[in-house]
Amino acid sequence: MPGQEYKNVHYAYRDSNGNLYPPFPVDPVKLTGYTQSIVCREIDGIPCRKYTDFYAVGVYGGIATAYSVGCNFRCIFCWVDWSRDWPEKYGHFYSPRNVYTKLRQIMKSKGLRKARISGAESTICPHHLCEVLKLVHKDADDFDLFVIETNGIVISQEKTLASRLEEFASKKNTQTVGHVRLSIRGGLPDAYTAKTGCIPESVDLPFIAAERLWKAGVSFHVAVVVDQRFTSTDEKKIIYDRLYKINPSIRYSVEEEYLDPYPHALVRLRAAGRVDVTGKSINKKEQTVLLKRPPL
Ligand code: SF4
Repeated sequence: MPGQEYKNVHYAYRDSNGNLYPPFPVDPVKLTGYTQSIVCREIDGIPCRKYTDFYAVGVYGGIATAYSVGCNFRCIFCWVDWSRDWPEKYGHFYSPRNVYTKLRQIMKSKGLRKARISGAESTICPHHLCEVLKLVHKDADDFDLFVIETNGIVISQEKTLASRLEEFASKKNTQTVGHVRLSIRGGLPDAYTAKTGCIPESVDLPFIAAERLWKAGVSFHVAVVVDQRFTSTDEKKIIYDRLYKINPSIRYSVEEEYLDPYPHALVRLRAAGRVDVTGKSINKKEQTVLLKRPPL
């Protein structure tokens, strides 16, 4: 099994001297391999993926959401539940047809025309994702939007993925309803590592993904955490300058993100030594999610 050394990677901890406990920082490419071995599975020749839930939320003006399992980053401010850190313990396998049917049921019952895969890294099982997108594309008239949320690592590694996504999320072809939301977490290697738990050498990978999406003509925009508690003015400028160099329109369409520390995020931030964000005392919501956490 690839990336076995990451079997026990949950979330990043720092000791009293501020040093990360091994195996952090992790290599997100190796972590991709390990996570894929847990959450992507071919069943009877069909590419399936693990999900924990399907529901509707108010963001994007109301959107049906498939909550998937498995990410190749370990962001300290991540709001996702423990399925991110223990993908082997959570979720069930769903075929693309199952996922599509569930999303359509939710859209119908709530009167919605938008859907997305969220909760984790949507591209980590690329064949599964493209099969879901194929189904969406067949019924494109029923959708205003299908959002593909990603941190870009898989797109930076799989050369053909950006052009495969363009079939369903095209800047030019107005018949497609897909749209990629690419999160770029950092521009300075050390700051990026502090936020994502990933090795500093991987800081360029999300920018490679942005370049590939741009060249392939994919409909996408970049989201950047501009919250000063995590991204300094200097780092923000570096990120924006790099995006501008790919194309000015990417820089000018950045979605600026400010973070709400949800309960799981509070636990992760505290473990990473960010008491400046969490506050000293543990609140009730944080206690509740800690009680539900699998043993470390
Ligand atoms: S990329 Fe998103 S899902 Fe993955 S760890 Fe970071 S915030 Fe969580």
